[in-house]
Amino acid sequence: MSHLFPNYARWPLAIVRGEGNYVWDEQGNKYLDFVSGIAVTSLGHAPAAVKEKLKQQLDQLWHSSNLFQHPLQEQLADKLAEISGLDRVLFCNSGAEANEAAIKLARRYAQKVLNQDRYEIITFTGSFHGRTLATLTATGQEKVKDGFAPLPEGFVTVPFQDIEALREAISSKTCAVMLELVQGEGGVNPADPEWVAQVAELCREHDLLLMIDEVQTGIGRTGSWFAFQQYGIEPDVVTVAKGLGSGFPVGAILAKEKTNEAFGPGSHGTTFGGNPLAMAAGLGTLEEIETHNLLSRVQELGDYFKEHLNRLVAQSSLVKSVRGKGLLLGLQLTIPVQEVLETTREKGVLFLPAGPDVLRILPPFTTNRSEIQHAVDVLSDVLEELEDKQKQHHSA
Ligand SMILES: *Cc1c(COP(=O)(O)O)cnc(C)c1O
Repeated sequence: MSHLFPNYARWPLAIVRGEGNYVWDEQGNKYLDFVSGIAVTSLGHAPAAVKEKLKQQLDQLWHSSNLFQHPLQEQLADKLAEISGLDRVLFCNSGAEANEAAIKLARRYAQKVLNQDRYEIITFTGSFHGRTLATLTATGQEKVKDGFAPLPEGFVTVPFQDIEALREAISSKTCAVMLELVQGEGGVNPADPEWVAQVAELCREHDLLLMIDEVQTGIGRTGSWFAFQQYGIEPDVVTVAKGLGSGFPVGAILAKEKTNEAFGPGSHGTTFGGNPLAMAAGLGTLEEIETHNLLSRVQELGDYFKEHLNRLVAQSSLVKSVRGKGLLLGLQLTIPVQEVLETTREKGVLFLPAGPDVLRILPPFTTNRSEIQHAVDVLSDVLEELEDKQKQHHSA
């Protein structure tokens, strides 16, 4: 009997080794990994340059705490400020923690800096912001809230891409709007740029913090450092985590200078946040993306992938559409995604779901055209098999 809680619906597969764009299971079977630990191992598994930085840090110092000065936190904060255009950084250990910090920052900014009694945060249907009590309340999906009542006050969810609904929801209590520019867990839904511009305008009008959750989209996944850079907006707060540490747990909140006072001494903190090993992993990851020009690689390979996936839309009645940006891609299926995932897995390629009928594809930035071609061929075969099976079923 397993002593683990059954909270994860795990696949019947134990991955025990990873190298580059491939992983191996206990039986020694090899898989092309287009899951990347859910948008985490963006440089592939055990990337040499990051490994080298981590090894050096292992010899130097593992942990000191935030009681002390932190040269590596300074370095990574400088780098994140440079690539985002934002000013202030606070490190934590996960995406949920980064969003939790954003929620706290928004409330405290309104109450302590603006001296106003505002606390409400507006979020959107289909969003995912994490599993802590506050972030699951912010999340626009009922399934993550089931059985956790009472939920914290101060959150309002309005329909995604409905500007009138947002306009109506803004009240004298609203302090911020939080959104994903490409909803990841919610089905790989890129937001319409016009709607996003209107959201930004409403935030400006009502003096609300515009907070972009880039936990999945950030650090190059969509082909720019951050997805917001493709939308021509200037967010007040951006959260990141998944792709920042190449697999080492690390998250961060980035914010505009005007929020600085809101997080004065004693306002917020975490024991592990900004741990030296996490900082080394983050610095190594950003350096690798820069050195190897991976942002333009993500754009180019993303376009290439999309072209080939569009072929599947034309070919198969089981595929409705292709969505996404860069190397965050989704296939809208007309059937449950589970069987497709199981069959591609048997053929040595790993994908993941985003909801019941969307197949999500999160390749490492280090993938190449021949791996993409192979993945699409496998998908094509699997879809054809399933289509034949369906036809037989119907004619029987
Ligand atoms: C994964 C994710 C989170 C939560 O991150 P954790 O590290 O699992 O806490 C929050 N927001 C988005 C957009 C995510 O994709």
